[in-house]
Amino acid sequence: MLYLKTDEEIELLRESNMLVSRTLALVASLIKPGVTTLSLDDAAETFIRDNRAMPAFKGYGGFPATLCTSVNDEVVHGIPSSYELKEGDVVSVDCGVILNGWYGDSAYTFAVGEIDENVRRLLTFTRESLEDGVKEACSGNRIGDISWAVQQKAESGGFSVVRELVGHGLGKRLHEPPEVPNYGRRGTGPKMEKGLVICIEPMINLGKKETMQMRDGWTIKTIDGKPSAHYEYAVAIDKGRADVLSTFEFIEEVLNKK
Ligand code: MG
Ligand code: MG
Repeated sequence: MLYLKTDEEIELLRESNMLVSRTLALVASLIKPGVTTLSLDDAAETFIRDNRAMPAFKGYGGFPATLCTSVNDEVVHGIPSSYELKEGDVVSVDCGVILNGWYGDSAYTFAVGEIDENVRRLLTFTRESLEDGVKEACSGNRIGDISWAVQQKAESGGFSVVRELVGHGLGKRLHEPPEVPNYGRRGTGPKMEKGLVICIEPMINLGKKETMQMRDGWTIKTIDGKPSAHYEYAVAIDKGRADVLSTFEFIEEVLNKK
């Protein structure tokens, strides 16, 4: 059973997701060599609370922080720590909020200073795979159309798609049906209708697709130790085209000034 949102509810979800986008832009302004992932987390939590919202991940299933910060071979669910970012790292920052009872959820992978050319290409393809997925997110299409588009783009660059973790519905819960895999076949899966809100979040690896979970019970890493990238938008399904409730514009304004 898929929960379809009214136009009013979608506007509330847009507010939540815009706050996430602005929080990620704040994080963007702070990222540089020598900065700890824990200091990013502190700044994000303060910003979210100052905006009358709550961090959605903190306490979710026992997760200890506001952000997931996943560095290099960490795919997702990395725990902010005293680790100091260094030149050449990539860090995926995933952020969730609850504002007026509605969830926001978005992620962006940042380069720390100059990064390896292959890793830059991984980021570009992952970002483009998200955009290709979004193009399929309209009423009448099926979830598999999104999955297929993401997988096509990622694999066309020679990269691999993580299987164990998927996108999801979003609303008054962080994870609602349907699951939104980043691999699959066209014309399969649930049919999308206007009012469905989903998070599309490709997790793409430079090397092998396989992952493993660390003993902290959270962090997912690539099995071959090669880097991984992750971008995420929340989108509302509409007729003809997706209504993207998140934006990377605030982030990119910050990055362009750096
Ligand atoms: Mg997320
Ligand atoms: Mg998500």
